Amino acid sequence: MNVHMGMEEDQRDESFDARLRREAMAWLAIRTNDGADELHWSDYEDFTFDGEAFKLRDRYKGIWKPRRLDAALSFSTTFRAPGQSRPYEDDTGSDGLFRYKWQGDDPDHADNRALRQAQKLGLPLIWFFAVRTGWYLPVFPVFLLEEEAHLKQFVVDLDPLRANVGNLPLEINFPLHFERRYRNQQVKRRLHQGLFRADVMRAYATKCAVCSLGHRQLLDAAHIVPDSHEDGVATVANGLALCKIHHAAFDVNILGIRPDHVVEIRADLLEEMDGPMLQFGLKEHHNTRLMNVPPRRADLPSGDLLEIAYQRFRSAG
Ligand SMILES: [Zn+2]
Repeated sequence: MNVHMGMEEDQRDESFDARLRREAMAWLAIRTNDGADELHWSDYEDFTFDGEAFKLRDRYKGIWKPRRLDAALSFSTTFRAPGQSRPYEDDTGSDGLFRYKWQGDDPDHADNRALRQAQKLGLPLIWFFAVRTGWYLPVFPVFLLEEEAHLKQFVVDLDPLRANVGNLPLEINFPLHFERRYRNQQVKRRLHQGLFRADVMRAYATKCAVCSLGHRQLLDAAHIVPDSHEDGVATVANGLALCKIHHAAFDVNILGIRPDHVVEIRADLLEEMDGPMLQFGLKEHHNTRLMNVPPRRADLPSGDLLEIAYQRFRSAG
C-alpha cells in the first residue's frame, strides 16, 4: 500500500465518495435524532448503501477508510470511565478546538494517510464519540482543519452551518475564531452531557430515584446543582436519574430531596386536592425515602450538593 496519492486522486470516484458521505450523514441524522442519541456499535451496522450493508466505522480501529474511498470516512474516540481523564478534556487545544491523535507514531501509517487525505480534500467526516463502553454519539460533519505533525494529531473542526449541534444562535458577524470556538464549546457541552447521562443511567439502573419508574424515554439525568453553578460539575455525584415529572418538580422546587434521601413536597401542594398524579405522583412521596439509589457507594449523590439544592428548595417554599 505504498501507492502515491496523486495517482489515486486521478482515478477517484468523486460521486461515489460524495454520495456515500451525504447518505451516511442523512441516515445518522434520522437514526440518532440529529446526533442527540447514542447508539450501540452494532446498531451502526444497519446502515446500507446501494442496497448493501456498508460499515460506517471500524469496530477495532479508531480510523476507518472503506476500501472504495481514498480518504477516511470516520474516526472513533473510545470510552474512558469516570475518574479517568476524558477525551474531550485533554484533547482540546488552547484554541478550544478538538484534537484527534494519529494512529501510532508513524506519519505514513495507512490510517494517518487516510485522515491526511480527508484533510487535504476538505471532506466531511463522522466522529464517533463513545459515552459508555460500546455506545457512540456521532458528531457530523466534522472536518480536519490542519495537521499538527509535531504533536502527532489533527485539528478537528465543525461545520458552522451543517454541524448537528442543535439550534445554535450563530451570528454570522462573529469573528471566525470566536464562532469556531463557540460551536466547538457547544459540541463539547453536548458530549459532556452525553457522558453524564450515560453515567447516571448506569448508576441508577435506568430507574427514577424518586418513584423507580424504569422507562428510558421518560427519564432524565438531572443535575442536583445546575451545571452553570460553580459547583455544578457533571459527575454522577451531582446527578439523579429522575422521571420527567419528578425532574421538573425538582427543578422548580415543588419537590425537595434532603441529604438523608428523604423526599419533601412543597407545603401548599400537600393541601391541594387534585387527580391521581398529584396524589400518587407527588403527595404520597412526602416524607418517604428515595425508592432507588445507586448500589455503589461511589455513585451516590453528594450530600453537600443535596444540601445546597435542599436549601434552595426550602427558601423557595
Ligand atoms: Zn419519578
